[in-house]
Amino acid sequence: MPGRKLAEYEAKRDFKRTSEPGAKVARAARKALRFVVQEHHARRLHWDLRLEKDGVGVSWAVPKGIPPDPKKNHLAVHVEDHPLEYFKFAGEIPKGEYGGGTVTIWDAGTYETVKWTDREVMVEFHGERLKGRYVLFQTRGNDWMIHRMDPPQDPDRKPIPQSIEPMMASVATRLPSPDDGWGFEFKWDGIRGVAYVDGGRVRLMSRSGEEITPRYPEVHAMGRALGSREVILDGEIVALDEKGRPSFEQIQQRMGLTSESEIRRKMNVVPVVYMIFDLLWNEGRSLLEQPYAERRRLLAQLKLSGQSWQTPPYEKGAGKAMLDASAKAGLEGVMAKRLDSRYEPGRRTGVWLKVKNHNRQELVIGGWLDGEGKRRGYPGALLVGYYDKGKFVYAGKVGTGFSDATLDKLNQLLKPLAIDKSPFDVGSPARAAHFVKPKVVAEFEFVEWTRGGQLRAPSFKGFRIDKKASEVVREGG
Ligand code: MN
Repeated sequence: MPGRKLAEYEAKRDFKRTSEPGAKVARAARKALRFVVQEHHARRLHWDLRLEKDGVGVSWAVPKGIPPDPKKNHLAVHVEDHPLEYFKFAGEIPKGEYGGGTVTIWDAGTYETVKWTDREVMVEFHGERLKGRYVLFQTRGNDWMIHRMDPPQDPDRKPIPQSIEPMMASVATRLPSPDDGWGFEFKWDGIRGVAYVDGGRVRLMSRSGEEITPRYPEVHAMGRALGSREVILDGEIVALDEKGRPSFEQIQQRMGLTSESEIRRKMNVVPVVYMIFDLLWNEGRSLLEQPYAERRRLLAQLKLSGQSWQTPPYEKGAGKAMLDASAKAGLEGVMAKRLDSRYEPGRRTGVWLKVKNHNRQELVIGGWLDGEGKRRGYPGALLVGYYDKGKFVYAGKVGTGFSDATLDKLNQLLKPLAIDKSPFDVGSPARAAHFVKPKVVAEFEFVEWTRGGQLRAPSFKGFRIDKKASEVVREGG
C-alpha cells in the first residue's frame, strides 16, 4: 500500500510549498480522480460521499452532510466500497430493499489526494458546491469524522445560533390605519415554535426555550424537505379541528407529553401542522436585520409545504379584508407586521400587532371556589390574575368553559399548590376560596375588561403550559 509506506515521507513535506513528488501516483500519469456526494433519502436522510480510488468508490455515509464550516465536524460512517458506475446513480431504490428511498446527486467533481492512509484521508475537492480541503479521520471502527480544513467556502458564513428568542406582538384593539406599510397574516391559535434545521434535522424550541422536538414527530420530515439547507424558521404549531380550524383546545392534548408511545398515539388522534411565518436564518446568514417583507420573500422561495408544515401567505395592506376573512373562517384574528421592520428577538414591540376577533387573555390561576351539584369535588370557579410590575392582580372569577377532562386536570394541577393565604397582592377575591401558588397559566376568552379591572363574561379556553406565570400581563383594553 503505497499510501501507508510513504506517509512519513509525506508528513514531513507540505506539497503546496515544495515541488517534490507526493506520495500519490504522479498526477500527470492519470486522469483526475472523481468524487460524488449523493443525497440519500433512506429511512434516515444522509449524504453518501464517494471517492474514486484504485478503481472503486471508497464510501462514507454522512448523516448531517458535508460540513460547510471548519467549526463543526460531522460523523462519517465508513461503508462498503461502491462500484464507480454508482457515481452516476440517481433515482429510486425500491422500498424494502437495502437503502430503500430516493438518491439524488448533491454534487460531483474531481478531487486531489493530499494524504491517504488507513486512518486518515485528506483531499481537496473541486466540485460545483463542494470546494476546498477536507480531512476524514477514523475515530473508532467504522466511525470517522469529516472536518473542513479551509476557511468556510462562503467567507461570510456564520455558525448557526443555538437559540433565538421569538419576537412578540402587542395587542391592538383595531387595525393599523393607513395599512399600506403593513403585512397581514392570519393569527394561528396554537403553540409558538422556532425550528432550527440543519443537515436535514429539525430541532423545535418552545417560546420559553424548552426543546419540544420529540413531542411533534410529524414535523420532523420537514428536515428532509430542506435537504442540506440550513435555516431557522419561526411559526406556530397548531392542531386543526374537523373543520380545518386551529383548535387551541385540541392541541392541549399534545402539550406536555413525554412518553414516546403516548406521543405516537395522540399524533394519530390530534395531528398538528407547523404554520411557518418567518425566516430568521438562511445558509450561514442571519436575517434578523432584514425587513419583514424581505424575510417573507426568502421564506416563500423555500416553498415549504407538506402534510404537516405550511407557509400561509401574507397580504400587503388589505388588513380589513384579512380580518373579515379570519372571522368568517373562525380564526382568532390577524397579525399586522410592519413591512420594513426587523426581527427583534424576545421583544414585544409595536411593529408587530395582534388584532383579535374576540378578547383573549392568558391568566394565572390563584385559587378556586368549590363546585356544587355535579361539580362537587371540582372547582366551581377559578380565581385568576395577572402580573403588573411584580404585583399579582386579581382579575375575577371564571366559572365556564370546563370539560370533564379539564376539571380533572385542574384538580390534579391545583391541589398540590394549595396555600393558606391569598396570593393576590391587589384585589380581594371571595373569602371562601381555596388559594394556590400562582403557577398554572391558562387562556380565557371574555367580552371586555370592566372599569373596575375585572373580566366580563370570561370562559376557560385551555391551559398554557408553554407560558411562565411571571410573564403573564394584562393585554390591551
Ligand atoms: Mn446511502
